[in-house]
Amino acid sequence: MTRKTIYDDLGVPRVINAAGTKTRIGGTLIREEAADAMRNAARNFARISDLQARASTLIEDVTGAQAGYVTSGASAALILSAAACIAGDDPDAMRRLPETDGLPDRIVMPRTHRTGYDNALRTSGATIVDIGTNDTHLGTGSVDVEPWEIRSAIDEDTAAVAYVAKPYTEPPLETVTEIAHDSGIPVIVDAAAELPPVENLSRFVEQGADLVAFSGGKSVRGPQTTGILAGREPLIRSVAAQHLDMHAADPVWNPPTDILDTSQFDGVPRQGIGRPLKVGKEELVGLIRALKLFVEEDHDARRQEWSQRNTLITESLHSTPGFVVDITANDGKTAVPEIEVTVDDSVVGMSATELVGLLRDENPRIFVGADALDDGKFTINPMCLDDDEASYIADRIVSQVYE
Ligand SMILES: *Cc1c(COP(=O)(O)O)cnc(C)c1O
Repeated sequence: MTRKTIYDDLGVPRVINAAGTKTRIGGTLIREEAADAMRNAARNFARISDLQARASTLIEDVTGAQAGYVTSGASAALILSAAACIAGDDPDAMRRLPETDGLPDRIVMPRTHRTGYDNALRTSGATIVDIGTNDTHLGTGSVDVEPWEIRSAIDEDTAAVAYVAKPYTEPPLETVTEIAHDSGIPVIVDAAAELPPVENLSRFVEQGADLVAFSGGKSVRGPQTTGILAGREPLIRSVAAQHLDMHAADPVWNPPTDILDTSQFDGVPRQGIGRPLKVGKEELVGLIRALKLFVEEDHDARRQEWSQRNTLITESLHSTPGFVVDITANDGKTAVPEIEVTVDDSVVGMSATELVGLLRDENPRIFVGADALDDGKFTINPMCLDDDEASYIADRIVSQVYE
């Protein structure tokens, strides 16, 4: 692993990523074509609103939504979504956020959908109203959220219902959108990591979601600091009005009408709450290129490549005493087959936690999945590895234990 990188020039250890698309270790590897597009954009100017209008067309095509917008990540898309649901097309409400006095600012969310990412929703000024229980874990047959609980949580202060799309989240999205729409309330869906499968680009829109957020820096392999927001036109327009730079002279203010209808406003709105979340021309063209390529990609071939890489790694690890190696191919929870290694510390002489720590301290650093250390397990995700790296990490794991 003597590959020479910019990180070596800087004296920063490189990471070999067997953990999947994790922001803290750099997310994903951007597609070469997207990086080339960014280099070209870096040499030439374009009006950001024109690029956003172009991106909107592509996002409409690939998601089936009425409009789309490029954000600086799925988290940023959640802030902007909440801000759009609170402020609508009211420039004075936009100006005031995150102060929400007198505005509907409650976001109803099932407790089991709460994540560390939902402070993004609150950054808009919203307050989350968390409903339901964790009762499915009691094994009594009782569910976490009853549809009636969502219905009764909605009142005149409600701005939106938020939903985190995971293969295991309940109740079904259609149930939630139906209830919310009965009261005229939009539904924001966090689907940041739900690609692949590629069909998910349109699935949540079809199920009635009003705004859907995806990461551009996960398996789409766009720029790390991009997100894709797909949704209803009036909401996307509100997002644009609260995100685009608004230091403009009114008489010549003329952004593309598909994403911002200037006739809605009696003058130029103020810089909105989204202004710190800026998206540059380079990120915009990089995301457009990457999203198009993601949609056109042979997804079966990619999955097969991951499976072959997993086989390569498991062949080395299977014969290691003290390791039990499984592949979580079709557990319904993950679209990417991962290797799961259970470490018997009485045989291996160290715990999964110790091993994972030692691998991270190597140079290059090796990051494996650490979500199941309490069960004595680590995982290997093939999507951010190449074959050389796959062989290398298998060697290093065995060497850490038996050398
Ligand atoms: C990754 C992720 C996010 C954040 O996405 P960014 O594009 O990194 O901002 C939000 N929600 C969930 C569920 C995620 O997995």
